[in-house]
Amino acid sequence: MATKVSSRFNQYQAFSIKANLAEIKRRIRAAAVVSGRQPEDIRLLLATKTVSANLIVEAIAAGETLIGENKVQELKQKDSVLSLLPLERHFIGHLQTNKIKEVLKYVTCIQSVDRNELLEKLDNRLQFEGRSLDILIQVNTSFEESKFGVHPNDAFNLLRLAKNYDTLNVKGLMTIGLFDADPEKVRPSFRLLKEIKEKAIDQCLLREDADLSMGMSGDLETAIEEGATIVRVGTAIFGKRNYPDSYYWNEQQTI
Ligand SMILES: *Cc1c(COP(=O)(O)O)cnc(C)c1O
Repeated sequence: MATKVSSRFNQYQAFSIKANLAEIKRRIRAAAVVSGRQPEDIRLLLATKTVSANLIVEAIAAGETLIGENKVQELKQKDSVLSLLPLERHFIGHLQTNKIKEVLKYVTCIQSVDRNELLEKLDNRLQFEGRSLDILIQVNTSFEESKFGVHPNDAFNLLRLAKNYDTLNVKGLMTIGLFDADPEKVRPSFRLLKEIKEKAIDQCLLREDADLSMGMSGDLETAIEEGATIVRVGTAIFGKRNYPDSYYWNEQQTI
């Protein structure tokens, strides 16, 4: 009888990470050219939820330098391998305040700050550690209940509050966008995030060069056309995940 392999970190597909990365880079370059932008102005973040440390090592060996994790538990599990590598780790998942101390052990940026309570508690801990942290404000641009992120109308207030904390460097905005396979349906989400950025710059709440973290495997071209400076790509590099994204975008469930 064949052994049943059921670790959620197992990848079943046969694929080449190197080839997938090359294809993503090509897509990024093409989208930049179409939008009259410089490809170097768009950074690729590898969304590595459920991806084993070994596969991440392959991507880093191929020249990548930035990954994003959704769960503190996974950061912890992969840390013994990943902490040895020249890479930057960001947090892109929903963050519960009781995980702040732990997440700060691993990441240099939290892209998913979406409420004042997080600002306050992050600042508390960072003051205690005597350090600062880069953050992005996550905005819910799809108005879907199941996604996290501050309501677009409240984003400015949250940006204003964030300015009060010397420990927090607000680098820009992040969004997941509408969950739809058709990039044109997602475009209004990306456009909204860009508009919020522009208004925030006018109000001196963000710098001119603020980041826009948006766009995933299926819609990175659209995101780049709308001004993305960081695209977060998982599936197109590492293959399909065994868990639906709702699993990662839902507060109740933890891994
Ligand atoms: C999983 C995930 C991504 C990447 O999605 P893919 O469709 O696999 O490219 C990007 N951002 C966040 C917040 C994610 O959770």
